[in-house]
Amino acid sequence: MPGAHILAGFSLGFNHRRELRRLHADTPPNSSILGLAPETLLSSGITVLALDFDGVLAAHGSPVPLPEAVAWMKRCEALFGGDKIFILSNKPTDERRQWFAERFPAMRFISGVRKKPYPDGLNKTAELAGVPPAKILMVDDRLLTGCLAALVAGARPCYIRRPYVSFRQRPAAELFFGLLRRGERAFVRVISLF
Ligand SMILES: [Mg+2]
Repeated sequence: MPGAHILAGFSLGFNHRRELRRLHADTPPNSSILGLAPETLLSSGITVLALDFDGVLAAHGSPVPLPEAVAWMKRCEALFGGDKIFILSNKPTDERRQWFAERFPAMRFISGVRKKPYPDGLNKTAELAGVPPAKILMVDDRLLTGCLAALVAGARPCYIRRPYVSFRQRPAAELFFGLLRRGERAFVRVISLF
């Protein structure tokens, strides 16, 4: 059913409301991938990265990651190994796959699974990487999709609160997603009262 993952975001979100509230409260408003030192992640027990694309590596709908995101991924690749880094996007387009195949051939796209917040993509990541979900960090700019999927799967969520945006290229989409992000933060605050 189209949109089932959105409804799942509300119901699974309610079940994990306390963890979502804590994640929201513990995340500084300016958090982005550039504040994530690969060495620190590794020393905290993370061995596998699952990266969202839109907002995390580039502005929404962009076909390729931003140069600073590429530089950050290079650092991660050097430390974790490309085969331990996965792209877990609800929009794994051919253009994006092609770009990664050329620039980061060892990194893999997870596809053919139910969309986040279902845990399927992270379960598949765990299976392919041969690690328990607790070793995986899911980096995502959405509380009720990627971060929630991590909580459901037993992986670790990293909430990106300052996503990449481009109002110049996609004003309507960015406005929509900006409101959506604010809306889900409000939703998390409200459900955590129950
Ligand atoms: Mg995103």
